[in-house]
Amino acid sequence: MKFATFADRADEMAAEPGDLATVALVADALAAAGDGPEHRSAGGETATADGTDADDDLPIVARFLRGAVFPGWDERTLSVGPSLCHAALARAAGANVTADDIEERLAETGDIGAVAADLDLGGQTGLAAFAGGGDDAPGAGGSALTVREVYGELVAVAEATGGGSESFREDALFGLFTRADPTEARYLARLVLGEMRIGVGSGTLRDATAEAFLNASVTTPTEERGEDDRTEEVVGLVERALQVTNDHGRVAKLARDEGEAGLRGVSLSVGRPVRSMLAQAGTVADALDAWGAVAVETKYDGARVQIHYEDRAADEPDDRSGGAVGAGDAGGPVSIYSRNMEDVTGALPELVEHVREHASPPAILDGEAVAVDDDGEPLPFQEILRRFRRKHDVERMREEVRVELRAFDCLHAGGDDLLDAPLAERHDRLREALDDGVSELLVSDDAAEIEAFESETLESGHEGVMLKRPESTYDPGTRGREWLKRKPDVETLDLVVTGAEWGEGRRAELFGTFEVSVRVDDSDDDERAYATVGNVATGITDEELADLTDLLEPHVRTESGQTVTLAPAVVFEVGYEEIQTSPRYDSGYALRFPRFLAVRDDKAPADADGLQRVRRLVGDE
Ligand code: AMP
Repeated sequence: MKFATFADRADEMAAEPGDLATVALVADALAAAGDGPEHRSAGGETATADGTDADDDLPIVARFLRGAVFPGWDERTLSVGPSLCHAALARAAGANVTADDIEERLAETGDIGAVAADLDLGGQTGLAAFAGGGDDAPGAGGSALTVREVYGELVAVAEATGGGSESFREDALFGLFTRADPTEARYLARLVLGEMRIGVGSGTLRDATAEAFLNASVTTPTEERGEDDRTEEVVGLVERALQVTNDHGRVAKLARDEGEAGLRGVSLSVGRPVRSMLAQAGTVADALDAWGAVAVETKYDGARVQIHYEDRAADEPDDRSGGAVGAGDAGGPVSIYSRNMEDVTGALPELVEHVREHASPPAILDGEAVAVDDDGEPLPFQEILRRFRRKHDVERMREEVRVELRAFDCLHAGGDDLLDAPLAERHDRLREALDDGVSELLVSDDAAEIEAFESETLESGHEGVMLKRPESTYDPGTRGREWLKRKPDVETLDLVVTGAEWGEGRRAELFGTFEVSVRVDDSDDDERAYATVGNVATGITDEELADLTDLLEPHVRTESGQTVTLAPAVVFEVGYEEIQTSPRYDSGYALRFPRFLAVRDDKAPADADGLQRVRRLVGDE
């Protein structure tokens, strides 16, 4: 495909406001890319690692439409920043234009594409020179830029290394810009900076792939589709293939060449990262209401890591991955990727060693790298940042900040892709694949049990808990409702402590649970001046329990078994998830998941929150 054709099509997409019409344009462009005279010309090389045959434009066009030159998993980047791009543009525009001029124009329009299209880059003269006379329209000439040539040049730009690579990159871009007509220049400039601005998101490209190659009817309104229409299923299939391969180009090609069966056959490759599954904010109440049972885990405050442990090829001596090979280790390379699929292996040698010692290849593990102190207790997030992307002084920093793995998921083990297996099963496979450093998972439908898990987690210094649907599959790149990070409390209430319970076992000398009450605003009866709304047992460390016991014990009024009543004297700030009406407490309301935040020693019981505020929060008043 001529690059001018690509650019014209991109221009049409940019001008099209309708989503479905854009899908139709993209589908057309994909079909044309796979169909042009250049497709499968004779003498092509064999398929390359990124699925780009030397004679097939489709994968390139699919990626270019998203402003990408390489697949998502590919380590290569263009290393072209704005200043390099501006310098190349200025050179192509001739002696009267400087990089500063380009920046000024950019400040006015905010779009490097518009700036590039406005420059006189000599695309027509350049073309005439290349075409040996130029009897065709600009952009359609015999040796005009092709998508493949642009791709080839950009690969060379990405692969340039060492001294002189900076000027090599600039020269290459300069060469492309001098051959570009205005529309080509617009999309060339945007492409090298990775931002196409043509309204083609990942979902558009997915839908267009299904439309172009798999008989889907995405652009037909749902009510007009036939009864046995399979559009949704087909689109789902393309989506899953995208999640697994992380490569729009390869998926488009597979859809065209091998159809649905080809997409169904895609599998993870150990060594190639996929996107991480992400979480939304939510509450324990949400999770219990929606799923019945909840899988609860510690939320580690570290940096996300996806660890790929390859099987060693039979004849391959392993000198990769830092060379840190544990005794009896039978594995191949270990690669560690960040949440953005950046390779961070070199910065985390102890995780590489840990995996070699404790994991069985092949495996893809998902987890968090956390900084810990000498006792293995979590350190603040800032500490892991000192280690995470470090390229120098790794060994010295290793002495200063210790890093450990907390693995919580397993995407592949022993040759089996596990994305479609339920979480609970993936966790079992994780335990089999890794014998140390696996996060504890509690599956429970009991609010009190979940609460106890959470308070233990908070006590050990972690930031909170994650809630996951036990049956959920692993959906790379998705931030859905299947994983929830427990929302921090938005509202808090200042409540009077009116009772307590002695703890059990080693905590028998300490209060463990505290009954909290609101002020009853219009009560003139001292006995009924406070009404209970909940019991707080969460969010309190052992140390705090001792202090709170000292603070409250002098106010004990009555004692029966483990339960005491207290004279109103101390005010707690209490967080909670929601308030429900409930006959269980005197106030008629119950806090769901209340937790202790602080003692309000600046407040007397008379300053505590009243029943009216609770009613207002619930919407009853
Ligand atoms: P946030 O960064 O606030 O959106 O929270 C989501 C992040 O929490 C994930 O991307 C992980 O890096 C991190 N995380 C910590 N512990 C877990 C866990 N047990 N399960 C999933 N994600 C976790």
